[in-house]
Amino acid sequence: MSEISGVRVRELAEQFGTPLYVYDESAMRKQLQTFTDSFQSNVLDTRVIYASKAFNCKAMIELVREYGCGLDVVSGGELYTALKTDFNPAHIYFHGNNKTPTEIRMALDGGVGTFVIDNEMEAAELLKQIKNTETDVFLRINPGIEAHTHQYIVTAHVDSKFGFSLLEKDVITETARKLQASGTIHVRGIHAHIGSQIFDKQAYVELVRKMFAFAKELNDLNVPVSEINLGGGFGAYYTAEDHPVPVQEVCETILRTCEEENEKNGGIIRRILIEPGRSIVAEAGSTLYTVGYLKKTPNKHYVFVDGGMSDNIRPALYQAKYDAYVADRENEPVFTDYTVAGKCCESGDILIESIPLPEVHTGDILVVKTTGAYGYSMASHYNKLPFPAVVFVKDGKAREVIERESYEHMTALEKQEERS
Ligand SMILES: *Cc1c(COP(=O)(O)O)cnc(C)c1O
Repeated sequence: MSEISGVRVRELAEQFGTPLYVYDESAMRKQLQTFTDSFQSNVLDTRVIYASKAFNCKAMIELVREYGCGLDVVSGGELYTALKTDFNPAHIYFHGNNKTPTEIRMALDGGVGTFVIDNEMEAAELLKQIKNTETDVFLRINPGIEAHTHQYIVTAHVDSKFGFSLLEKDVITETARKLQASGTIHVRGIHAHIGSQIFDKQAYVELVRKMFAFAKELNDLNVPVSEINLGGGFGAYYTAEDHPVPVQEVCETILRTCEEENEKNGGIIRRILIEPGRSIVAEAGSTLYTVGYLKKTPNKHYVFVDGGMSDNIRPALYQAKYDAYVADRENEPVFTDYTVAGKCCESGDILIESIPLPEVHTGDILVVKTTGAYGYSMASHYNKLPFPAVVFVKDGKAREVIERESYEHMTALEKQEERS
């Protein structure tokens, strides 16, 4: 019988309906613990920050809080959600390349600890709004390294929408000086985030070296940065094609390289930060669907499910691959390779292009694995499908952390002319 953390999959589907996002809470706790345990150095202060855009909701933020991690937010909505919990705003890092004046105001009023400044105009806006509030700042750097899954490239890629290019050092030092001159803004460090689903440790080694070299330059130019934030991007396991580096190993590599580089560069750096998002929540999450109709075409056996690109855009957006199983039938022999398609009006609404499964019947529960990151957070109302519910499961108990949206709720903000 198929279970998630001691609760039968069928029971979850019956109790909460489908499509349903189910998170194994113990698995997320284990990841948070592994990151906080592994990212430790005898020489450098360290901090693990959860990049909440991977999955942001109150229950998740409360979980992160328990492990003493920081929290990344990139919008007023993510920030608002965090401010509605007991999370200490001093441990929030506000990212993004276009924080609006209203969002900056909201963050200052909310006591957000750190702004990660992306560009000159944003720095000017912060300067305009800051009064007597003390705030910390990191400058986002585009280090000219881009990493995705199996490869990373070191380029002089100067056209990224994110961050200050390393080629414009004058702009960076000038911006840092202006911010420092305010007296209340403290430029603590530099930040970079080089990509996602990174399987190559060497990309981080390269990044650490570049960041230390640049931090040294800044210090020599009288911009005394003492913290380096290396961003996220740690890989998760989706299918047998993926070989993510174990968390302990990647943390070890990063910190040993940082220690070496710090020694080489005169010990200018005091604290190293990382920002895992996906790797904390991806594998803990699954999506449950009820199988509707089946259809055979000359080359395909389609399984239609009651969700699709509206609850998981990643296959359509990035050709992301997923593994799945049919609940309670995991031990049955394979019948054929199926194509799992959603119910949205879009030919690209295919969740899994080809997967061997036992004979699938209407009413079966199909469980798509590793949907914990960028699933719920990228969900849309396309075709006016309401957002599914989210359930956390732990030690045989399920708790609903986000209710299923109703049609009433979905249309509540729509105005209607009175008709006589
Ligand atoms: C998206 C993002 C992260 C997290 O990336 P993952 O691949 O989910 O680990 C961290 N930092 C910043 C600035 C990001 O934009």
